[in-house]
Amino acid sequence: MRIGIVGCAGRMGRMLLREVAVLPMAELSGGTDRPGGYEIGTDLGTLAGLDPIGVTVGDNPDMLFGASDVVIDFTTPTATVGHAGLAARHGAALVVGTTGLSAPQMDVLRDAGTKVPVVQAANMSLGVNLLLGLVKRVSAALEASDWDIEIVEMHHRHKVDAPSGTALALGRAAAEGRGVDLDAVKETVRDGHTGPRQPGDIGFATLRGGDVVGDHTVVFAGAGERLELTHKAGDRAIFAKGAVRAALWAANQKPGFYGMEDVLGL
Ligand code: NAD
Repeated sequence: MRIGIVGCAGRMGRMLLREVAVLPMAELSGGTDRPGGYEIGTDLGTLAGLDPIGVTVGDNPDMLFGASDVVIDFTTPTATVGHAGLAARHGAALVVGTTGLSAPQMDVLRDAGTKVPVVQAANMSLGVNLLLGLVKRVSAALEASDWDIEIVEMHHRHKVDAPSGTALALGRAAAEGRGVDLDAVKETVRDGHTGPRQPGDIGFATLRGGDVVGDHTVVFAGAGERLELTHKAGDRAIFAKGAVRAALWAANQKPGFYGMEDVLGL
């Protein structure tokens, strides 16, 4: 199986190169990054902190998709939309970890899923995907009139989207548990004289700083007691390992739009 990596010069891209390079059952078909980026032409092995492998970072995703059975994409929403079209055109499966996609951008991924297998998840770690299931169960068990749900997340200073894709996924899981639409109840900004909290709202608080890989806590606050479910990512490798697992799985699936719960059989 041939696995390609777009955005291979990024924080996640380099991690993915390291994971794919050591797979016994797959080979690295290549890597691309943003045209004009200064890593173009650098050896992929060197970029990953390994020995040189004689293949360099390219800037032609069309060629990479043509040479791959599956491509892993942790880039930007605009780049990911372009990659989805290439995956469909070349018949390559696509694993998307990029966050911050708008609803129309998600529709482009779903559309590609009618032609090839597409796996998309805001968080590829096993722990967070288990947490999503727990949050849905807990929120279904607790009355919205008595229990307030708040989601707190912290990430490193370089993160560009907020709240994190994982925080929003946790919010969706909580909303699903209550049988409501997250967009109708989410409160992502509080500033100034906000008035009291509305029952049923799902609040978000975003912290940014340092090199935090990703912390998420879902707080269920009732009268006289509080339940907190927390996941802390200590190493980006958990996301890369999850993405590689998704890639190996996706390459053998029918066209479809899948999530990590499908990959992990949750
Ligand atoms: P990063 O900025 O370090 O890396 C992004 C890379 O994409 C950069 O090298 C950039 O040059 C490249 N890129 C941009 N446009 C491109 C294009 N048109 N073609 C090819 N490459 C292009 O960011 P990061 O920390 O690696 O995160 C990337 C994305 O993955 C973010 O959206 C982040 O939120 C998400 N992420 C998801 C998970 C998950 O488990 N799903 C985990 C961590 C990060």
